[in-house]
Amino acid sequence: MADLYVDGEWREPVAGGRREIRCPADGRLAATVSEGTRPDAEAAIAAARRAFDTGPWPRTPERERGQLLLRTADIVERDAKEFARAESLDTGKRLVESEYDIADVVSCFRHYGGIGGTDAGRVIDTGRDDAVSRVVYEPVGVCGLITPWNYPLLQASWKVAPALLAGNTIVLKPSELTPSTSILLMRALAEAGLPAGVANLVLGAGPEVGAPLSEDPGVDMVSFTGGLETGKRVMATAAAGVKKVALELGGKNPNVVFADADFETAVDFALTAVFLHSGQVCSAGARLIVEDSLHDRFVDEVVRRARQIRLGGPFDAEAETGALISAGHLAKVEAYVAAGLAEGAVLRCGGERPDDPALADGHYYPPTVLDECTQDMRVVHEESFGPVLTVERFSGDEDDAVRIANDTEYGLAGAVWTQDGGKAQRVARRLRHGTVWINDYHPYVPQAEWGGFGHSGVGRELGPSGLDEYREPKHIWQNIQPRPQHWFRG
Ligand code: NAD
Repeated sequence: MADLYVDGEWREPVAGGRREIRCPADGRLAATVSEGTRPDAEAAIAAARRAFDTGPWPRTPERERGQLLLRTADIVERDAKEFARAESLDTGKRLVESEYDIADVVSCFRHYGGIGGTDAGRVIDTGRDDAVSRVVYEPVGVCGLITPWNYPLLQASWKVAPALLAGNTIVLKPSELTPSTSILLMRALAEAGLPAGVANLVLGAGPEVGAPLSEDPGVDMVSFTGGLETGKRVMATAAAGVKKVALELGGKNPNVVFADADFETAVDFALTAVFLHSGQVCSAGARLIVEDSLHDRFVDEVVRRARQIRLGGPFDAEAETGALISAGHLAKVEAYVAAGLAEGAVLRCGGERPDDPALADGHYYPPTVLDECTQDMRVVHEESFGPVLTVERFSGDEDDAVRIANDTEYGLAGAVWTQDGGKAQRVARRLRHGTVWINDYHPYVPQAEWGGFGHSGVGRELGPSGLDEYREPKHIWQNIQPRPQHWFRG
């Protein structure tokens, strides 16, 4: 199968490469897909450039563009089973989680489809009777969209839907580890009637087909979701071409629990916060910051329940969480735990690969709790991106909780648990994180912005400012009584 989608055609890569995608849960062959190289990325960029400069899409009324997104949502919903299965095979995540993700993808396309044409810009009062003035929105141009492996299609849809609604043309470059649902999305967009060249798909390794998206002068904007170090590279390269950049990077997210929290609920969510998708979630609540007086009872209960979490593959109905994405990532998580122990953390559970023969072919690591941690430990301040919870204590003082929670270079998300409504609001306002949950963890809505402070990123996804990333305000002033001004007498 030819899997690169360029200028409305499915193409084989110029160099003829293929890549095997193996399911992280059991090593089975999930798919064999085209593996592009730089000339494929350049062809995709050229197609997107032509479609933007000479095609109908940027001038298609936004309401019509929105309708195409709504049709796409219907197609993805119709084929949801196929999408979810492909997502689970690529990522190893439980099928039920992939089903939720695909439902969220449908909601994302419906959200953007539904707001198409509802914002006609704004009229300015010039204070004069000889001029009218308005601000309208223009698409940015050709957008390079680079996405990670943890929520492959969801992260892609957060970029693809607003970028297309705003009238841009796009080149999507998914993670080389999880390309399958991006291929299916291109099919859905084509079936929905997207004109040729508007959405293009390149597959392959980051330095080969990702890097050209921030280097090529034919691209106007790069929107990247992934790790901090790659994000810095993308930003530095894009700077040379003065490209617009949006970055959604990592997080090291605090989950702050005061002693007056609802105990059972806070324990329950502390587990979901960090062990969902085996911790491979940018907003994972990997740092539990718990009030001293509650610490022992709370951590005992978290550990008791963490030990019971059942690992398994995507189609194992008993499994509660799955494998890590790759052998390399598993080794990285192990190294973080080892570093934490070397720096004085206390291992309360997990910490060793499971010995269950049923899991032997997958990249499994058990839920792990490291107690008595401090912020100077690597495992606390760097993103392990695995099922590793670090526990820190605070005195009970709000200032102390806020100081510890904000002591991170990241600032993506966090939570505060207390039954004192005033304290909850005060602490939530002071947390320097882009999303703060009160007595909850993980929910998001497409109507609200998603994105980070500090090194968690630049720009926003979702919400009104998320859409604004993909469009530029343009001021149009019209002199409605043009006549000589005679500023200069001669
Ligand atoms: P990664 O940085 O390794 O890769 C992300 C993407 O960048 C992939 O498609 C990769 O091929 C591509 N890439 C690699 N080198 C490149 C280069 N030189 N130029 C252009 N593209 C290049 O990240 P990952 O391991 O796939 O994803 C995990 C990371 O993503 C974590 O840090 C996680 O926190 C982050 N993430 C953030 C959010 C968010 O909303 N903030 C959401 C999901 C994941």
